[in-house]
Amino acid sequence: MNIGFIGLGTMGEPMATRLAQAGFPLTVFDLNRAAADRLAVLGARQATSVAEVADTAEVVFVSLPTPEIVQKVALGEGGIATGKKVRIYIDLSTTGPRVAKLVARELIARSIIALDCPVSGGAAGATKGTLALMASGPSAAFDEVAPMLQCIGKAIYCGDGAGLGQTMKLVNNLVSVTALAVSSEAMVMGVKAGLAPEVMLDVLNAGSGRNSATVDKLPRAVLPRTFDFGFTTALSLKDTRLCLDEAEAMGIPMPVGNAVRQMLNMTRATYGDDADYTRMICVLEQWAGVELPIVTKA
Ligand code: NAD
Repeated sequence: MNIGFIGLGTMGEPMATRLAQAGFPLTVFDLNRAAADRLAVLGARQATSVAEVADTAEVVFVSLPTPEIVQKVALGEGGIATGKKVRIYIDLSTTGPRVAKLVARELIARSIIALDCPVSGGAAGATKGTLALMASGPSAAFDEVAPMLQCIGKAIYCGDGAGLGQTMKLVNNLVSVTALAVSSEAMVMGVKAGLAPEVMLDVLNAGSGRNSATVDKLPRAVLPRTFDFGFTTALSLKDTRLCLDEAEAMGIPMPVGNAVRQMLNMTRATYGDDADYTRMICVLEQWAGVELPIVTKA
């Protein structure tokens, strides 16, 4: 079965690479030609448009930056909806439930089944094939593409309703970025009081403060001051905004989430869209008048 892959960025390229290496015949497209060139070296066919992918492949994956771009690629002029061959569309992006539902509704009218399947685990997980995948949509289609999803990570089926996987992803990311924000606050306070950052992480990880920031993000990207975890402030802000907008539409206040959103806004205002979101701690350091010492092995 021919597979299409659109969007070969930080996440898409390693996921498509794993599919190509597993032997799936792949047709790829990205506005950035260099990424498609690298896939071509592995045997993938390069398409020149979204339409060409959807005319060639029965199953089309997308991994794109924003809901607006996903909607345009799926439903816009020359989009997936007009494809002659495509039967199953799988959105690996963080798109939010509203656009996922809209796209699923429009695609099924053209006999194309939509699965939302956002991922968690970052660029490292995408390379290793250890991502968590949150899938929703018709279960028969999920079963059909399960061997492909297994190449990318562990797929957990969240239900048949369009957008459920997306809701799960937004919730996951809100928890993750909130852990980063509060752990960053704690590290700055502890260091200003005289604690060594590596000692703090040892204690937090042995105790009840353990979370994905203390285990992974802080030792890997903050203590060595490389700020290269691989997730931009703009993307994290997008995820947080999508989650809070959804909660607001449901009438659910999320005061903690809103505070974290402002932390991301301040990080973006100070360091820019493309700054890694682990830079958030630098904003807190400025307020505290202290900087964590560089620790290369935590
Ligand atoms: P990215 O910006 O690195 O990659 C997006 C790719 O899409 C780029 O190569 C870009 O050229 C391409 N693109 C944009 N518009 C296009 C179009 N119209 N047609 C074809 N290609 C187009 O983004 P990313 O970090 O790989 O993230 C992709 C998605 O995965 C996002 O929705 C993000 O929220 C989500 N995500 C990212 C991470 C992460 O750690 N980076 C983790 C989990 C989920």
